[in-house]
Amino acid sequence: MKSTVYYWNLRASMKAPADQRLRRMLKVAKVNEHLSSGDLAAVKVHFGEAGTTGHIQPLYYKPILDFLAKAGARPFLTDASTLYVGQRGEAVSHSLVAARHGFDPNILGAPVIIADGLKGADQKALPVKGKHVQKAFIAAAIAEADFLVAVSHVKGHELAGFGGCLKNVGMGCASKKGKMQQHVTTGPELKGENCVGCGACVKACAAGALSVKAEKAAINLKKCVGCGACFLACRHEALTINWQTNITEFMERMMEYAAAVLLNRTKPSAHINFLTNIVPDCDCMGFTDAPICPDLGILVSLDPVAVDQASVDLINKAQPLYPSALPAMLKPGDDKFLALRPHMPKDMGLDYAEKLGLGSRDYKLVEV
Ligand code: SF4
Ligand code: SF4
Repeated sequence: MKSTVYYWNLRASMKAPADQRLRRMLKVAKVNEHLSSGDLAAVKVHFGEAGTTGHIQPLYYKPILDFLAKAGARPFLTDASTLYVGQRGEAVSHSLVAARHGFDPNILGAPVIIADGLKGADQKALPVKGKHVQKAFIAAAIAEADFLVAVSHVKGHELAGFGGCLKNVGMGCASKKGKMQQHVTTGPELKGENCVGCGACVKACAAGALSVKAEKAAINLKKCVGCGACFLACRHEALTINWQTNITEFMERMMEYAAAVLLNRTKPSAHINFLTNIVPDCDCMGFTDAPICPDLGILVSLDPVAVDQASVDLINKAQPLYPSALPAMLKPGDDKFLALRPHMPKDMGLDYAEKLGLGSRDYKLVEV
């Protein structure tokens, strides 16, 4: 059966401004019908790594939070700690990044709660019937929340190819231990001839798996947790992933985590995908590159697979933008995510998500 995905193309007017349009989308998707008075509603956010500008801006959250509060819920903004060494690796720095990026409870009417506690160890073990994962470690505040709204900035992603709702839920709602369990297959390969011995990867590696000896990086794979931070830190293309052997399993583990988060809940969750600032890489990168296509709109659905499939389809249909990281000569309709990362599976993991029972790739788009 086709799932419904509601779509707003970002056109607005004095009579129908953005906040009103967003609340209307949630109403037509009947999100309020799944909320009970007093529900603690987790709104899963990516606050943006320090230095990024492409993440969803805080004022876009206001109508979503107002809608939830009007339906009787008590919403809070939340994310879990990262594995890599950055500004979001523990709750103190993470909360400060959120504050610096304008997530102010006095303005938004909802507090920021880092879901996996001070050091990323506050977690719940949830069952999942996966090929690789049977017990998933999910950030406690998200696992315990009565309702979940995943608000996802859609863009390319250096490890997952495409970053949308299922990436935000699967990886983003996992505790540090849960993130390690997903990344365990993605250790680095060293191209020694490119290494200049700068040591940037050593500083980025929280696991102490990297060192520089005789002006070349060295890896202790026994210590590596596969977080990917060193790939982001190296500016000399000296560290890469062995994509052929690892990427499919990595994607499957991430989808299994999304299943653990969503299929253990008693109520459906709401999924809001922002197709704005559609850049080639994740908001974890510490910079924001030029977009690969124009802003396209906002999608709302109760089906996380359908909302991601609709996002991929709309982006691939759109006019490619240049200058950008896209290879030249793409036309509307060409697959932008595969053009950026040809090693990725064409379905971006959505086929396996569907098999896990997370939702349907078959959808109907309804303009609101
Ligand atoms: S060596 Fe392993 S643990 Fe260290 S940053 Fe790279 S991927 Fe992460
Ligand atoms: S960041 Fe890259 S170039 Fe610098 S030491 Fe590490 S592998 Fe070598």
